[in-house]
Amino acid sequence: MPPLNLGNSQPKVPLNADLAWRTTADRATETILFFDFDGTLAPVADDPTQVQPAPKVLAAIEALARVVRRVAIVSARPVEFLREHFDGLPGVDLYGLYGLEHSHSGGPTVTEPAALPWVPTMAELADLARAELPPGTLVEYKRLSVALHWRTAPHLAATVEEWGHAQAERLGLRVQVGRMVLEVKPPVDRDKGMVIDELVQGVGGAWYFGDDVSDIKAFAALRARAAADPDFLGVCVAVANPETGHEVAEAADLTIDSPAALGDFLTAAAHHLR
Ligand SMILES: [Mg+2]
Repeated sequence: MPPLNLGNSQPKVPLNADLAWRTTADRATETILFFDFDGTLAPVADDPTQVQPAPKVLAAIEALARVVRRVAIVSARPVEFLREHFDGLPGVDLYGLYGLEHSHSGGPTVTEPAALPWVPTMAELADLARAELPPGTLVEYKRLSVALHWRTAPHLAATVEEWGHAQAERLGLRVQVGRMVLEVKPPVDRDKGMVIDELVQGVGGAWYFGDDVSDIKAFAALRARAAADPDFLGVCVAVANPETGHEVAEAADLTIDSPAALGDFLTAAAHHLR
């Protein structure tokens, strides 16, 4: 395991994953575990509706949720999608659409009020995308965002990106780039970093697992919390992939090879914390 990269500061204890979990065990009830979904807990698929968590992941999360303060899934997916996989797991909170909506422990979905007026705009944008973008583009309408995927037609990348940026400018929306996807979102200040920043105030430690560039903001939120409090343990874990893996791994303390490997890593972690 490489040493923990704590930015410009000297690495502090713990120096590797085993030590990090042992340190976490001492403060498990004061620790939050954050997970991105796609590409982290679940391998990316050509059809985003067919994505399933990797083996062992759900069982490990269920075991971890029993011993830590909270588990939170922080995803670009809507909460309703995440519910299909995590509903019924006590102690698991769902943050969808980069935090524009959330559900605590199976409770109702709460939407960021500032985003609600944008629902009709996003629906119209999804219709327009289906009408105007070339075949091979996959348009995923998510109520408060529209994701434009080109995974099965990589040659369309430039066309889709240009169209998405132009529409965002025309409608006053924002753009989030991901792995072979561009998302158009309401101009509401909410991202993974802001979600993490709010939730880690007052806790003793947090781990964040992610694979994409939007997860780097979450890493930064953990770094900021750790910089403000030397007793806080923040661990940033990248899940490797061929598209953004290098950039995300550079920003992380540890890198895991794949969602399947993360299933094994979390299973071992659950033993550490038991
Ligand atoms: Mg992801």
